[in-house]
This record gives sequence, C-alpha cells and structure tokens, in this order.
Amino acid sequence: MAEEKRAEESRSIETTCVQGGWQPKNGEPRTPPIVQSTTFKYTSSEQMSRLFDLSESGYFYTRLSNPTNDIVAKKICELEGGTAALLTSSGQAANFFALFNICSAGDHIVASNAIYGGTYNLINVTMRRMGIDCTFVHPDCTPEELEAAFRPNTKAVFGESIANPSLMVLDFDKFAAAAHRHGVPLIVDNTFPTPVNCRPFEYGVDIVTHSTTKYMDGHGSCVGGAIVDSGNFDWMAHADTFPGLTTPDDSYHGVTYAKEFGNGGAFITKCVAQLMRDFGSIPSPFNAWILGQNLEDLALRMKRHCENGYKVAKFLDDDPRISWVNHPGLETDKYYELAKKYMPNGTCGVIAFGVPGGREKVSALLDHLKLVSIATHVADSRSCILYPAGTTHRQLTEEQLKEAGVGIDLVRLSCGLESADDIIADLKQAMDAVL
Ligand SMILES: *Cc1c(COP(=O)(O)O)cnc(C)c1O
Repeated sequence: MAEEKRAEESRSIETTCVQGGWQPKNGEPRTPPIVQSTTFKYTSSEQMSRLFDLSESGYFYTRLSNPTNDIVAKKICELEGGTAALLTSSGQAANFFALFNICSAGDHIVASNAIYGGTYNLINVTMRRMGIDCTFVHPDCTPEELEAAFRPNTKAVFGESIANPSLMVLDFDKFAAAAHRHGVPLIVDNTFPTPVNCRPFEYGVDIVTHSTTKYMDGHGSCVGGAIVDSGNFDWMAHADTFPGLTTPDDSYHGVTYAKEFGNGGAFITKCVAQLMRDFGSIPSPFNAWILGQNLEDLALRMKRHCENGYKVAKFLDDDPRISWVNHPGLETDKYYELAKKYMPNGTCGVIAFGVPGGREKVSALLDHLKLVSIATHVADSRSCILYPAGTTHRQLTEEQLKEAGVGIDLVRLSCGLESADDIIADLKQAMDAVL
C-alpha cells in the first residue's frame, strides 16, 4: 500500500489526468461507472443511523455524495496534490462554499479585486447582504497595503491564480505570507492555469477552487465546480477563529470536524455535511462523469491552448492597430516573471487586448469574426471572444472596472484547439475590415 502510494505520488500530471481517481479492482469496469441513482439501499436502519452520524462512511443520498462524483473529485484532488475534494454544481457554488464554510455574519474577507465578475458580485453584493464584509486589494499591492486590509475578524484571503479576464498573476508568496501571519487560509481560484500548469499548494495556498466549466470540462458541455483542500491549514491551532471546525456541530450530532477528520479532511467534510446538505449544489452524476472523461486529455489540451495563446498574443502584440496585449506567457508581459515562477510549463490560452475607438469599434470587430465566436464563455475547445465591459462586467462602474483591470477597451479572447493560423487569419480579416 505504501509502495503504491509512493508510485502514485511520483506520477506525472499527464498520467494522473488519464488514470487518477479510479483504479478498478479485478473484474470491475475500466471506465468509471455512472451511478445515476438518488438513493442507496440498506438492510439495517442501525447502519443508516451510523452513516447519518458520520461515524461510518457510505452513500445514502446523492445530494450529499455519490460514487461517480467522488471518483471525479478524487481525480481533481490528485491533480492538485490535495487531501480531500468536492464537486459542486458550478464554479460559483465552489467559491461560495469555500468562503462560507469558514465565514459567518460579522466576519470579514480580504480579496483580490482582479477576479471573475461573478465572484466579485458574490463577494461584493450577496455575501455583504449575508453580513460578511470584504476589503478588496489590488493583486500588485505592496505588503504594507495588504497588511492594512486585515481586521481582527478576517477569516480568509481570496484571489485567482490567473485573473479572469485581466490575466494578472497572483503573487502566492506575498498573499500566503500575509494570510498565515494573520492565522487564516489563502483560498485560490485556479480555473485558468488548471493543475496541469499551476499547483498552488506548492506555494503555500491552503484551499483551491475551480470552475470546471472552463478548461477542465473544456468542451462547453457541463457547468461545474470543485473545491480541493491541501490539508496544510492547522484549524486547531487557530481554534478561536474557526469555531465551526473546532467546536461540536449540533446539527451533526456533536461532531467536531477538525478533531474527527483532522486537518486533511475537516474542511471538505464540513462543506459536505453542512453546505451540501443545506444548499444542495451537487452536480448530476452524469455531468460529473462527462467531466471525468474530459479531464483525461486535459494535459494534452492545455499544451495546445498555451501554444495557440502564445502565437495569437504575439500576432496581436506585433500589430500596431491593437493598443495593448495581456498574456502572461508573452515575454514582454508585466506578469511574465511571476508566471515563470508559479507556472513554469505554461499559463493558459486566454488573451486580453485593447481595441481603440470605443464601444462601437469593439462591437464591429467582434461582429466581423467568422471562426471565433462571440460567447459568454472562455477556456474551451472552440475559440471564443467576449467584450466584458459590455457583458459580464456591465454592472460595474467605470471606476470599479478600472480597479478590476477591465478597461472599457478590453476584449477577452480565448484561443481554442483549432489551428493558430486559422485563428490569426480570422482576426486579421476582421481587423482589416474594421480597424
Ligand atoms: C467562470 C468562472 C467562475 C464561475 O464559474 P461557473 O462555473 O460559471 O459558475 C469562477 N471563477 C473563474 C475564474 C471563472 O472563470
């Protein structure tokens, strides 16, 4: 068993993509089974009671857990190098659960302001309505500015490894040091680079979230999310800050998560036992299975997405009609050095660039594209393009847009798996017609 474990740890990410999560025993199906069942049958009500007490593990109702979902969560857990993981019905649910699992009314979060528009809204509007306050900081803030954002009631620090859509790279060292100095975990949304290109736990991040809707699914088929715990945060050492994990849960027969499940299992077990139970944001086993299939070629796909992203970014950067280009894989990019440090094998296939001439010009350029489609999506097999200031970020004021690194001229292009030459040709014909 120990040998087997060691062999698994030394495996490359490519192998884990293909074989992680599901090791069938003799005679079992090679591909994970889809357990499309809401409930699980037992012959003894005594055993059922133990399952409800969490004193025995097993399946009883798919809102809490399902074997297919668990297989796929295990694969993602292995990819990130974590100790426990959970699938959620969307990336939004993953980020909400990750924060709400350790924050209650009266608490406070420190968050990067360069984050996905939906997450910004979740933290800035909906969670405030629940009594959870937030101080936003720029990812490039000085250590002093970051320090000043903390309060005695701060419970977590949140950021994105590569920000959507500004493509800023988070300095894990700076954010982890500040979080740990204040005895709280650093939670990072690792959607854009995926664990193939970035493993935040190796740089002090405590909890990772994903919108699996993006590269992980990668084919525009299934909305989904995931939360992975590194198992490194010592809840008991900060028992007063996190009573939900370190004192008995009356709604679960007095279980104390950090005691019963240790640092490796407490966070995810509480997330399932309380948040899944009460909010029910579970993916269908069928969607989880599709995600599992698509994860098998994630490493291959990321390589191609990055190659295409680089080639297209270079083309845009070399064209004087384009005001500016952000792509952390580009040598001239402001975040190139940070990207090299935290994601040495590649970043992602997403590019942000500036189109001069105002809203009408931007819209005209997008309307002229033939291969690249206008879609509220990103990080997918098919190249797609979006004008955030006119769509996903339209609820933000011009000042907030600027703070979030989403200028009025910003266009987000997600390079798919097509030939880079074809993507470039499409952009060129549209630019020739409009700019
Ligand atoms: C899309 C996205 C989300 C939200 O995920 P959904 O699956 O759409 O709910 C969160 N974070 C990032 C970085 C995203 O790109």
